[in-house]
Amino acid sequence: MSTDSKIIDGKAFAEGLRTRIAVVAADFEAKAGRKAGLAVVLVGEDPASQVYVRNKGKQTVAAGMESFEHKLPADTSEADLLAVVERLNADPAVDGILVQLPLPAHMNEQKVIATINPDKDVDGFHVVNVGRLATGLPGFVPCTPLGCVMLLKDRLGSLSGLDAVVIGRSNIVGKPMAQLLIAESCTVTVAHSRTKDLPEVVRRADIVVAAVGRPEMVKGDWLKPGATVIDVGINRVPGAEEGKSRLVGDVDFASAAEVAGAITPVPGGVGPMTIAVLLRNTVVAAHRNAGLVLDESAL
Ligand code: NAD
Repeated sequence: MSTDSKIIDGKAFAEGLRTRIAVVAADFEAKAGRKAGLAVVLVGEDPASQVYVRNKGKQTVAAGMESFEHKLPADTSEADLLAVVERLNADPAVDGILVQLPLPAHMNEQKVIATINPDKDVDGFHVVNVGRLATGLPGFVPCTPLGCVMLLKDRLGSLSGLDAVVIGRSNIVGKPMAQLLIAESCTVTVAHSRTKDLPEVVRRADIVVAAVGRPEMVKGDWLKPGATVIDVGINRVPGAEEGKSRLVGDVDFASAAEVAGAITPVPGGVGPMTIAVLLRNTVVAAHRNAGLVLDESAL
């Protein structure tokens, strides 16, 4: 099989998802008499966070939703940030609230997340939503792992009975990814920094999800032939030209593409899915909060 046909094109999938979301968002506006709204709160001037927030705002508006941006200085007190979150909780125009992480060191991230109304927590980080995911109740699921599952189901159809290895156990990616794969009836192994003989663990997997943050760590000869590889990693490394950098994943794409049955590239794989799923979660939240019926499985 050529490498091209193995590539899971997350950019194209995300585009299609955004088109479907725009249709649903227009339908919501017609029924509710207002647009679905997403509020993004940014504290401080971290350049990467500023880029994310700008892109989120642009894509929210492009999908026919309202974007509310709250930019607070880096020295904002935790109490003032919590007051902003409380105001957004009470604002009927706001369906989804996202507090851009990381927060400055003087703030307690867990406390801030815990203040968001779980029914507006479109990032799915609130413990109530973590619990809902773990127990199979409807809630909100973190955007990046949900995007990974969408790509997997699009490529493989049913995931039932497949062996999946998730490398990484963060609250944002690894753990919710494992929960989602359990819900899809995979047999799931979660590997992490203390795992013994990682290549041997990975070799068992029909599905490998790498969410580590180590450039090109997973090699082709670790993989079971035909495995589906989802590379969540985004790592900036020195480029071929002096002073230039390039993005690579946690998987060594060249060697992995030889062995894998399907693989996400970096960039253009998982990355574009995250904001598209955030918009999905927002339009879902809008329907739930307004008491309107939506076939969420069609999104
Ligand atoms: P994290 O640092 O919170 O977690 C990394 C995990 O990798 C940890 O659980 C750790 O145990 C594990 N790990 C570290 N070294 C290891 C090793 N040698 N062997 C096996 N496991 C090891 O990171 P995160 O937030 O989960 O993000 C992981 C990667 O995904 C990063 O590159 C990040 O930039 C990327 N990411 C991408 C998106 C996106 O595409 N939109 C979103 C979130 C994170």
